[in-house]
Amino acid sequence: MSGLQHNTIVPDPSDLASLKGWATGLGFSGLGVVPLSQEWAQSDAVTRMRGWLSQGFHGEMTFLEHHMPLRAQHDALLPGARSVVMVTMDYLAQPEDWQQREAEAIDRPTRAVVSVYARGRDYHRLMRRRLAQLARAMVAAWGPMGHRACVDSAPLLEVELARRAGLGWRGKHTLLLSREQGSMFFLGALLTDRVLPASQPIADHCGRCTACLTACPTNAFVGPYQLDARRCISYLTIEHAGEIPQPLRPLMGNRVYGCDDCQRVCPWNRYAKAASLPDFDVRNGLDCADLITLFAWDAATFKARHAGSAIARIGHERWLRNLAVGLGNALRVAVNAAPIRAALASRALDASPLVRSHVAWALAQGDAP
Ligand code: SF4
Ligand code: SF4
Repeated sequence: MSGLQHNTIVPDPSDLASLKGWATGLGFSGLGVVPLSQEWAQSDAVTRMRGWLSQGFHGEMTFLEHHMPLRAQHDALLPGARSVVMVTMDYLAQPEDWQQREAEAIDRPTRAVVSVYARGRDYHRLMRRRLAQLARAMVAAWGPMGHRACVDSAPLLEVELARRAGLGWRGKHTLLLSREQGSMFFLGALLTDRVLPASQPIADHCGRCTACLTACPTNAFVGPYQLDARRCISYLTIEHAGEIPQPLRPLMGNRVYGCDDCQRVCPWNRYAKAASLPDFDVRNGLDCADLITLFAWDAATFKARHAGSAIARIGHERWLRNLAVGLGNALRVAVNAAPIRAALASRALDASPLVRSHVAWALAQGDAP
């Protein structure tokens, strides 16, 4: 344990080992520390983010624009913030051959493919609770400190902070990537006003690989390390509220909630690790569900089945919209079209105009030449 006082300006190197020990006990798979300074506001990462926003690549996610001043200034999130502790938490329930299994699911048009991270319990509250436990361990050992746990709940540039914390590098698919863990993990942050020893960043190991860029079904990458979110299936199925642009619908295939393709083809993801917590076990058979079954869920069933899941956030209407697109794509190539047509027809008069219009589009796919 450190004998340092709260807010001392000389970090104790042994603090990092203590933090890593506590974090491992709490189910985190990696931990690193970034000292915070005024330099951050002028950093390349903040400049890049501003450039990305100015090109409109964030689509309807206007909160990213509104929160940009906070993103550039950690003091605004926690007065006197001096360090951020970044953590990773692995989420793959079944890591063996996962890339192969997901590729096979995408090739089955009537299968509903839900992004792997969303098949278990929602990670936000779970990780925030565990970060709060980590903060309690720090306070117990080192004395009072200001702190704030953030899991997608505050405007931070998490990937850049995690890169600086030595937890990996930013892959060409824009996500954090590590040689030991691939990219199938969640990120969390604990801001603190305590000065902590810095972790060392590691080198980029993408090399000449471009697998993620060419695998994207909707051509969402403008170039390496740059994503046009407006074309990304994760954005279209989760963040985007209205009509899904028609030219993109056929490219979405059977991906009905998020998309893992750019991670699935990444060679480093053969080293992705198994989740250490049972919370991420697959619920509702979402690793092998079919479109027709999920499309039959009424609003009450949707609510009950997805209680405690990230999927609940999109609501029943967007869920049906996404499934209708998947069913339309299945109808275009189906050997046995009758059950797909019947499922779609059952919602042709749905109360939601959004659902109705996507169902109409889907039914028309059966007539496509
Ligand atoms: S998540 Fe899917 S759609 Fe989005 S960039 Fe990756 S491969 Fe493309
Ligand atoms: S697929 Fe290749 S280029 Fe893309 S993130 Fe992985 S290693 Fe980097």
